[in-house]
Amino acid sequence: MALIVQKYGGTSVGSVERIKNVAKRVAKTRAEGHDVVVVVSAMSGETNRLVALANEMQAFPDPRELDVVLSTGEQVTIGLLAMALKDIGVDAKSYTGWQVAVQTDTAHSKARIEQIDDSKMRADLQAGRVVIVAGFQGVTADGDISTLGRGGSDTSAVALAAALKADECQIYTDVDGVYTTDPRVVPEARRMDTVSFDEMLELASLGSKVLQIRSVEFAGKYKVRLRVLSSLQEGGDGTLITFEEDENMEQAIVSGIAFDKNQARINVRGVPDKPGIAYQILGAVADANIDVDMIIQNVGNEGTTDFSFTVPRGDYQPTLDLLGKLKNTIGADEVSGDDSVCKVSIVGVGMRSHVGVASRMFRALAADNINIQMISTSEIKISVLIDEKYMELATRVLHKEFELDKEKEA
Ligand code: ASP
Ligand code: MG
Repeated sequence: MALIVQKYGGTSVGSVERIKNVAKRVAKTRAEGHDVVVVVSAMSGETNRLVALANEMQAFPDPRELDVVLSTGEQVTIGLLAMALKDIGVDAKSYTGWQVAVQTDTAHSKARIEQIDDSKMRADLQAGRVVIVAGFQGVTADGDISTLGRGGSDTSAVALAAALKADECQIYTDVDGVYTTDPRVVPEARRMDTVSFDEMLELASLGSKVLQIRSVEFAGKYKVRLRVLSSLQEGGDGTLITFEEDENMEQAIVSGIAFDKNQARINVRGVPDKPGIAYQILGAVADANIDVDMIIQNVGNEGTTDFSFTVPRGDYQPTLDLLGKLKNTIGADEVSGDDSVCKVSIVGVGMRSHVGVASRMFRALAADNINIQMISTSEIKISVLIDEKYMELATRVLHKEFELDKEKEA
């Protein structure tokens, strides 16, 4: 008998019929003798609908009131799921984030969970009830409703699992696990039985949409046993995120490939090659709260140098405007850019112990005439910035090059 937290995403609770299916699945886990806490998202499309409503009302919705509106989606699903469970004879009780309470900081629409009171949940479990908690939401110390950012129900689930010291946190979604890459782009993509925590963290931050990055960080911090499974398909063990790397197992050099179109490149040409220039450019960008990702500064030539970096695509025009105004102060010849670029990354803990991975990647891309604009690396990943029209080709080429379509040898 274990304590299991199960999270069901928007697609999994997208209709009355699907909610009834979720109820059956929960009932089955219960019948196996486990205690179950269920976290649900809003029905698919609902959060988008609520965002659109708020935007119709106010060009820049009031942050506190926006969270009041957005949190209603999940409140509907918890109630419906509790009804569905009671209908099939399973005692259940639903809670909103503030009823639990899931306490967060005051950063509306991107709040961080600070503390969870597990007393009500414990009492219900003790009484043999299934506990249903609204994902994506919490409450500030002042009693205001907060939300955790899009995709935040994953984080709710992992945080609850940590607070309850659950034996496992199961994320049920519309795919049956974590894949070597998006199967819609590469049909040969394979589900991984396990993926290491470090790899999952990179994949989530590099554009793989399976788990909200914060949920992975949370799982790492509290060592929550985390598994991704399909809610639409019976059976299967999904993908387990592991914390220990198996020393005996031959590690694949590359485990997964992520891609991300939410990228734009900015170039600042002909700046004086002197101390402080990177700070002048990037300091101004940081002060405007714009996230900078890849950065390149060329070796100076005759007293000047070129500087390039990437920002999220939505920040492209604001960054150009900002640096356009600063151009004369910085002493740059030209500020330009390109917002039809994308980032493709290979990830694998096996890179730690293999050389030549980068050159193999670059050779494969060159063979298909894909030009690399920027490169960045960490211990377990290599990312390239390329023209977005080659994103899918590059992903397929790399998937093949690193033999991700082949079964890993044990
Ligand atoms: N309903 C929220 C969203 O659509 C939270 C979630 O689904 O995880 O982003
Ligand atoms: Mg999600």
